[in-house]
Amino acid sequence: MPTYDFTRRTRRQSDPDVVVVGAGLAGLAAARALTGYGLTVQVLEASGRIGGRMATRELDGFRLDHGSQLLNTAYPELSRALDLDRLGLHPLAPGVLVHSGGRRYRAGDPQLTAARQAASRAPLGSPLDKARLGSWLSRLAATPAGRLQARPETTTARALGERGLAPRTVDGFLRPLLGALLSDPALGTSSRIADLVLRCYARGRLCLPADGIAAVPAQVAAALPADTLRPGVRVTSIAADGVETADHGRIGAQAVVVATDARSAAALLPGLRLPDFHPVTTFYHAADRAPIGEAVLLLDGDRPNGHPPLVSHSLVLSELHHSYAPPGQALIASTVLGRRSFDSGGPAALEPAVRARLAELYGVPTKGWQFLSVRHVPDAVPAMPPPHNNRRPVRLLAGLYVCGDHRDTSSVQGALVSGRRAALAVARDLGLPVSAREAEAAA
Ligand SMILES: Cc1cc2nc3c(=O)[nH]c(=O)nc-3n(C[C@H](O)[C@H](O)[C@H](O)COP(=O)(O)OP(=O)(O)OC[C@H]3O[C@@H](n4cnc5c(N)ncnc54)[C@H](O)[C@@H]3O)c2cc1C
Repeated sequence: MPTYDFTRRTRRQSDPDVVVVGAGLAGLAAARALTGYGLTVQVLEASGRIGGRMATRELDGFRLDHGSQLLNTAYPELSRALDLDRLGLHPLAPGVLVHSGGRRYRAGDPQLTAARQAASRAPLGSPLDKARLGSWLSRLAATPAGRLQARPETTTARALGERGLAPRTVDGFLRPLLGALLSDPALGTSSRIADLVLRCYARGRLCLPADGIAAVPAQVAAALPADTLRPGVRVTSIAADGVETADHGRIGAQAVVVATDARSAAALLPGLRLPDFHPVTTFYHAADRAPIGEAVLLLDGDRPNGHPPLVSHSLVLSELHHSYAPPGQALIASTVLGRRSFDSGGPAALEPAVRARLAELYGVPTKGWQFLSVRHVPDAVPAMPPPHNNRRPVRLLAGLYVCGDHRDTSSVQGALVSGRRAALAVARDLGLPVSAREAEAAA
């Protein structure tokens, strides 16, 4: 059982100023900010690679992310922490394609004026209802994030009924879109988080790097001084002045930043709150031809017997960038959300049902598609029910800090911000000069 140990021991010369536990995006962001303060840092990572949940692997020429993930160009921390030009971001088509009641329609292109939304053929209510959606999205885009955070908080499901939008607009667009963006088909997420996510949707573009999602942590890692990263080092217990590792003994430090996933953090730091999680299961298929000639987010808008659909959303990744599939092949990523009990066949046992639904969603035969892989991530996204504090403390005591998406919002944005906030707290405790701009940006 891990314990805190408050006895300060002598540091060896090889010990860094700061130990960061975990080389996911939050740990890497913290390490980069810490080295920027002139501190020496060691990032100890239990697995053999960096990036945590943001991983990409190659399979027979296909580029498969560790579950389908999407970035949004309007995440404020993205442009602050990354060189977006070098990341080679490719945007999805604006808006989404919804399949509902046997037909597909475009919806929610924030670039369209309210008048053009009103004229669309999407079955989202009367022209006035559709114009209302258009102007509602524009207003949301223009509302400062701080004001959205001050709104009354309830679940997203409940709030959707109170926004003055037509039920058909809600059911035919907002519900499936938010289910997909929040990885939460029941929409139990805080309405404030849903507002922030929709604000980003209305202001930016969903996108992915040409090299896969792992390009994001790889870029942050590349900016770290040599010898900062130590993969294959599992931390077993945490003390105020260092950590114990499974196979590499004790490593001392002036400060320790726990940047693991929420479950590992709760194991290392008894008393830390353990959130619920939204699982994400992603099926990857290969086809000889792309079922649709563009990279558009296809949402399943049907709710069989009032329940969320089996497939939440799907995307033809090879239409986003050719490097996702070998020449002449298409790569399709399809996401199943929610907790499911799998039989002995595991998540792969769902594949025939997923494939059958994809035939309906895309309107093409899928019998000839090749099932490449399924990624089931039970702890993919920490749940954010109301009341959700998206600025949880990162300083536990002088010398001990915690960051990760579970301290902010459960997203790339949240992981990056939390890392920067933790680094700032370390710098302050060590008496390093911190500019007012840095302090304000992390507030
Ligand atoms: C399938 C899926 C889909 C997602 N979709 C989106 C999306 O569309 N948009 C979005 O913004 N976000 C999405 N997310 C969430 C996003 O990926 C995470 O918020 C982000 O990657 C979290 O980064 P992190 O650094 O906080 O944690 P992690 O990436 O979990 O990193 C923690 C690291 O700590 C290491 N570690 C754990 N224990 C120890 C130990 N004892 N010693 C040393 N190292 C340890 C782990 O190995 C890991 O590398 C998705 C996540 C998944 C899995």
